[in-house]
Amino acid sequence: MIRIGVDVGGTGIKVGAVDAEYRIIRENSIPTRTDMPFEEQVGRIADCIVSTVREAGLTEDDIASVGVGIPGIASAKTGEIIKCTNMGWHHVPFRDVFRTFLDKPVAIDNDANVAALAESVAGISAGTSSSVFITIGTGIGSGIILNGKIWSGAHHIGAELGHVIFDLDGVPCTCGNHGCLERYCSATALIRMAREAASEHPESMILELAKGDPARIEAKTLFDAARAQDPVAVSVYGRYISFLAQAVASVVNLLDPEIIVLGGGVSKAGDFLLEPLVREYPKYVLFNDQPLPPVRIAVLGSEAGIIGAAILS
Ligand SMILES: [Zn+2]
Repeated sequence: MIRIGVDVGGTGIKVGAVDAEYRIIRENSIPTRTDMPFEEQVGRIADCIVSTVREAGLTEDDIASVGVGIPGIASAKTGEIIKCTNMGWHHVPFRDVFRTFLDKPVAIDNDANVAALAESVAGISAGTSSSVFITIGTGIGSGIILNGKIWSGAHHIGAELGHVIFDLDGVPCTCGNHGCLERYCSATALIRMAREAASEHPESMILELAKGDPARIEAKTLFDAARAQDPVAVSVYGRYISFLAQAVASVVNLLDPEIIVLGGGVSKAGDFLLEPLVREYPKYVLFNDQPLPPVRIAVLGSEAGIIGAAILS
């Protein structure tokens, strides 16, 4: 038997058949089509699952269950997608509609929660019963695993570390508030800080690496300049690490999980990110004379979405 994992994204939907060892044995993707009625969108996902399974040399009877990760919130109990703005889905009975196409057990959860589960079962935090996964990309996503299970809150709206407020009068956030943590800790934030510093200090290596065009400054530009000890880049990076250290420390102050896992584009910096972070975050932890959770880089990468969805049910 295999389990199906579906990773729903704003531009594409990935479908994978996952075996008992948490390996993806066959994978396909279809472009996201929000211009279609909901039922048709669900039907396309079911069709893609069936063709994926057949390409793997199996049949529908070999499917034990289907799990779906979405960039939004869902009720595990009712199978309803409560809110998924990218897809235009609001209070849609996903499980019920899906089962008219393919009658299998269906589980749905938020994509960051799903990735957290994947890492805690088949990735870097495997074997732990509590972990917090933080994905650092365009925004900040997070997933909490407690006693081996996803904790998304009593009302499915929790585990949103990115919108914990750092500074009430701070940078405006996409959510409508000001000073949310993701405005300081995401890749977007790092790029903004690098661009601001480069315009104030045009002599810095940051601008040189971007061929003199601030619009070409990416997170990697800042990492490269900081690695080369450019003083402006080192200062921006130090400030960024302080923000991230406060985010990690907040997680520890609130939950004290066994391990904290970092994923997303920025986490590709590896030890260059981890070393200063692990040095700095204890400073902001209340009981920092006690053993503290290790921080590690996620290992499943983009496969976490499919693997985590598959093991949801
Ligand atoms: Zn926000």
